Amino acid sequence: MELVVNALTLKAVDYNENDKILTLLTAELGKITAGIKGVKKAGAKLKFAAQPFCFAEFVLAKHGDKYTVINASESESFYDLRTDINKFYAASSAAEAANALTYEGDECREIFYALIKALSGMCSGSESAALIEFLLDVLKRSGYGISAENCASCGKPLLHADKLRFDLDAGAFTCGECAGTGASRVTYNVIRKLDGKSYDADFITADGEKRALRLIREYFSYKLNFAFKSLSEYVRLL
Ligand SMILES: [Zn+2]
Repeated sequence: MELVVNALTLKAVDYNENDKILTLLTAELGKITAGIKGVKKAGAKLKFAAQPFCFAEFVLAKHGDKYTVINASESESFYDLRTDINKFYAASSAAEAANALTYEGDECREIFYALIKALSGMCSGSESAALIEFLLDVLKRSGYGISAENCASCGKPLLHADKLRFDLDAGAFTCGECAGTGASRVTYNVIRKLDGKSYDADFITADGEKRALRLIREYFSYKLNFAFKSLSEYVRLL
């Protein structure tokens, strides 16, 4: 049986001498694993499809529960993500997060389109802002949303507070008197800004996005028990 899907290559692992196994995030079938033959040979026609962040229309052959890529036509190469190391690691972080938050056989159309939008945003503008917006969005869609409102424990307003904390279990900011790990008002305001909420511009500093990404990485790793290596690398580069 042949199937046509719109998909993005999240991951490619070597297999046999010339083949690869791809993890594809598809709009139609959720996340799937598919083999692709001969792509390590020089001049292979489908080499591009095994590149990171290849967005293409894939033609798949299905035998039993196994998929093989038999053809692909590129919709968007996101070329800029492969020529700039910062953009590359930001895009890898988004792909790694999408992989961690989706499961084979589950529908994940919203995460698929959010990822395409984030990668386009990274090509044309600030990759760190696009990455934070994407991570906040997909965490929310997956039931792990970060709350940056009043203190999650006592209700004290935090917008202009001096001392803040972050409660990793609740995924929420708290005040200096309530339980949580140390967090800054810079991180709080950057997260509110990129989540489309009101914020205090006096607390947005040049390193604000880096600080916000550190907290998101710690929270993501804590909740999903996952190392999030590309995001550690990206934060190190910033
Ligand atoms: Zn409190």
